Parts: sequence; structure tokens; C-alpha cells
Amino acid sequence: MNNALELKKLYRETVLDHSRNPRNFQRLVPADRVAVGHNPLCGDKITLYLCVNNNLIENLAFEGTGCAISLASASIMTESVKHYALDEAQHEIARIMHQFDSSNPDDATAEGDMAALSGVRAFPSRIKCATLAWKTLEAALQEITETTTTE
Ligand code: ZN
Repeated sequence: MNNALELKKLYRETVLDHSRNPRNFQRLVPADRVAVGHNPLCGDKITLYLCVNNNLIENLAFEGTGCAISLASASIMTESVKHYALDEAQHEIARIMHQFDSSNPDDATAEGDMAALSGVRAFPSRIKCATLAWKTLEAALQEITETTTTE
């Protein structure tokens, strides 16, 4: 088996693992920030809970329903930014959105578990599944209380 196939297999396993056993999948009560994200094209819906202390994301968790890609992305996102400062999290969102921008020809920026989802860039409708959690995190950081939609 060549490296590209090995990598694809690893990516598929990472996505399946996170979607079947999402990390930080729970309601946080009380939460300092709550944001809801919706991807009507696919039906993905997540609610994100953040506990913020001294400008740090002390804890975060999510609940939701959706496709494997949206759940895996939310699971990976919560693992990635836990304990980040708010501005670091904002920076990470920008990096991920750039990584999943299909007009960005440079895919060398993909790294970490989110790289496992980089294959969706070939399928524009699925990019919204992969970025929903990150858009919802952005809404939480900006204290936007209306539902964030990918449309
Ligand atoms: Zn989806």
C-alpha cells in the first residue's frame, strides 16, 4: 500500500473515531457563552458551550446532531482550542477557515487531526460540515446569540 492510501485510511479512521465517540460531548452548565450553529444544507446542528476565565477558554463542550464530518470536526475543534486564550482561538479559527477555503491552492497548511478532514475541500457542500463548529466557535467568541448559519 502506498503512502497516499495509508494516509487516506488514517484520515478515515480519525473521522470515524471522532464522530462515533465525540470528545467533550456534553452540555456545560453553567456556561459563560452558548452559541448555536446550523448547516441547513446537511442538517447539522450544534450547540457549543464555553467557560471563559481570564480571557482563557477554561472548558468547552458541545451537543448536536449531524453527519460524521460535522461531529468529527466539532470534536476535534473542542480538543484543539481548550485552554487557548480567546485571541489564540480567534487566530486558530482564521487558520482553519483558510485551510478549508477551496479557493486556497495551498493545502500544506493542513496539520493535526483537522487535516483528516481536508479531503472535503474537493466537495464544496461538505466544507460547510467541516467548518460549522469553527463558525459556531467564532460566534461564541463574539458573543453572538442568534443561531449561526452556514447559508
Ligand atoms: Zn454535514
